[in-house]
Amino acid sequence: MGGHPLYLEPRLGSRLGSLLASPDVLHPLVDALGSPLNVVIPEQIAANAERFRAVYTGHHLSGQVYFAHKANRSSALLRRLAATDAGVDVASLGELQHALGAGFTPDRITATGPKNPEFLWLAARTSVTVSVDSREELDQLAALVRAFTLPRVPVLLRLSGFEAAGVRVLSRRSRFGTPVRASGPLLEAVERHRDTVELAGVAYHLDTTSLDEKATALEGCLRALEEARKRGLRPRAVDVGGGFGLGYLADGEQWERYTSALTEAVLGNRPPLTWGGHGYGLRNEGGTLRGSLGLYPAHRPVSGARYLDELLTRPAPSLGGRPLGELLVEHLYDLYTEPGRALLDQCGLTLAKVLEVREQESGGELLVRLAAKASDVALEEHGVLMDPVVVPRARRQPVSAGGGEPVAVHLFGSLCLEADLITRRTVFLPRRPEPGDLMAFVNTAGYCMDFHATAAQRQPVARKAAAWQEDGAWRWCLDDQYWPTTSRGGAQ
Ligand SMILES: *Cc1c(COP(=O)(O)O)cnc(C)c1O
Repeated sequence: MGGHPLYLEPRLGSRLGSLLASPDVLHPLVDALGSPLNVVIPEQIAANAERFRAVYTGHHLSGQVYFAHKANRSSALLRRLAATDAGVDVASLGELQHALGAGFTPDRITATGPKNPEFLWLAARTSVTVSVDSREELDQLAALVRAFTLPRVPVLLRLSGFEAAGVRVLSRRSRFGTPVRASGPLLEAVERHRDTVELAGVAYHLDTTSLDEKATALEGCLRALEEARKRGLRPRAVDVGGGFGLGYLADGEQWERYTSALTEAVLGNRPPLTWGGHGYGLRNEGGTLRGSLGLYPAHRPVSGARYLDELLTRPAPSLGGRPLGELLVEHLYDLYTEPGRALLDQCGLTLAKVLEVREQESGGELLVRLAAKASDVALEEHGVLMDPVVVPRARRQPVSAGGGEPVAVHLFGSLCLEADLITRRTVFLPRRPEPGDLMAFVNTAGYCMDFHATAAQRQPVARKAAAWQEDGAWRWCLDDQYWPTTSRGGAQ
């Protein structure tokens, strides 16, 4: 292999690390349940929820952490979370039914996203808090409550289009929520519908990593709450949505080195680092670099609960420059958060068996084919660049050609399709994989393991197992067989 390997090693917590170091558990699991296979770790989501809760406590805030269910379909994770004090944010009729069936009482559920009449009815019938997207949706909800003589429904008004005071910031366009400029007529509608809905508060969700944008939105929400109170309404909560993110990579220097090398490769200053010269959004126009890197910032020093902490510490320029967290406490507002990806940090991995390792006639990278499709390991789809961990089949790897040397590989999926690349970049591995080895893609629980899963070519959708530690050993069961009583709360 020419040049130095450009590793992007995953960040591994103690649970995931311990599971990966257990080939005696992982190989029989895939032999029994097939490849690809998803494994989730229910104990971890409970630990992550506690970390969010600790930030609330640190800021003397009350409120609720609602897990954004859409990020993973797992029953085991949801049921384990039901045994904590956290809540769940559902975005479809099926997710609402799943949450109710997992043991979440309606006071621990919020309903967001686009809603069909059935979803809206079940939410209203069970008195779940509904995050209302628009005036039209509010009217529709009020009509349902009247038609079926249901109890008053608690609502959050989802707002969007926030602008920082003084500066014209081009705020991100969203198809969701009511522009904050139009919140007046929305509040009038709430007053008109006061026999059917009760204003619980206001909400936003911004799909961005930018703390500035989120601080501006939270500040805008505080002003909207003030406006609602002036009208005699009694809102009590601000829902700051999700988007706290997670750090996938262990080493920031590896990330810097990789992205610089990718830039050089796009400019033609070094050999390509991707299949077919793909540039991840970058391109070479006559020797000048154009475009922008369309990747998830895979190394993030501040993410998850720490990101929430930073947001709460940010000042609100239009409200006396006071920190946002202090302003929430002062007004006795509850803080709602809806972390999806962040609550799933270290909660699972996707295993795929190596079917074939082929050398190219021209030399160069090895072509490695896995028993999985790109949609089974959707890290690439989400712009997350991170190396798989090879779990060897044999205890002592036979020393084949270049056995102990680093290798560069291309990872292909199992579909009869040129585009079925598990990742478009060249992946560097510390040693040559062999057929029968497993490749473990870690931290796939957030959006990457089942959101995009299909049964294309009649290939089976990956099964899911739940794993936990008991008396120092890893135990497992099928995801839908897991209940909080199954694991006796885990080893720690
Ligand atoms: C998707 C979504 C979330 C979760 O976003 P993450 O980036 O996974 O934290 C939260 N709230 C709403 C309304 C969403 O649509």
